[in-house]
Amino acid sequence: MAVRLFLLLLIPFALSLAENLKGKISLETAKIILSSKTLLKDAIITRYVNLLGSTLVKYSSEPELRVRFGVIEDRMPMSLSAPWLYVFISQEAIRKAQNEAELAGIIAHELAHIILNHHSMSAFGQSAPDSKMPIEEAARRLAKVSLEERFSIEQEIEADRYAIYLLFQAGYDPLALMKFLKREGDNSETTRQRIAAIESFIQQGGIRGEFKLNTARFLKATESIRR
Ligand SMILES: [Zn+2]
Repeated sequence: MAVRLFLLLLIPFALSLAENLKGKISLETAKIILSSKTLLKDAIITRYVNLLGSTLVKYSSEPELRVRFGVIEDRMPMSLSAPWLYVFISQEAIRKAQNEAELAGIIAHELAHIILNHHSMSAFGQSAPDSKMPIEEAARRLAKVSLEERFSIEQEIEADRYAIYLLFQAGYDPLALMKFLKREGDNSETTRQRIAAIESFIQQGGIRGEFKLNTARFLKATESIRR
């Protein structure tokens, strides 16, 4: 049962003809990423991350997107993605998150990079590869952007804003991503600029209200990697 779940992760959903090329490129990109990263073989966490991620997709501007989510065994708290169908979260990011809202914030940021076509803009200078480009070449370029985090500071800030919007739409604490970044982020200039931009964005938005953290559900679903 558990093994089947992991195999499923690499089988794309049935796609329309128009989506077919993107699906093939996504799968090739995911394979390149996973040639240097190891998928965590934990059925409970994988199912939980997929439930959380697909809920966020439903609240996004592209609710039809069929994204699959996986956890990778990485000691850095990070996320990466193979546009447009695969998002990977490191087990260290899950371990360092304090509640579901924070993990949702990390996933939402990565989803934003996909939805806003950031990988393509960095790799090809346009929102999708030229249809004449071989799939392997497109995938190699997209994987490079993802693995080497070749996003501009403007793209990172844009992804954070989109993530805050998604958190809010899904009923999660919109401050969760900022709290995670402040506590666990590195001391880089990029992280400092991201936090400053999020703070001013939230102040402008004047976000108030009762939001969910889902701490108990989060701790239960992820307890095996906290032991
Ligand atoms: Zn990012």
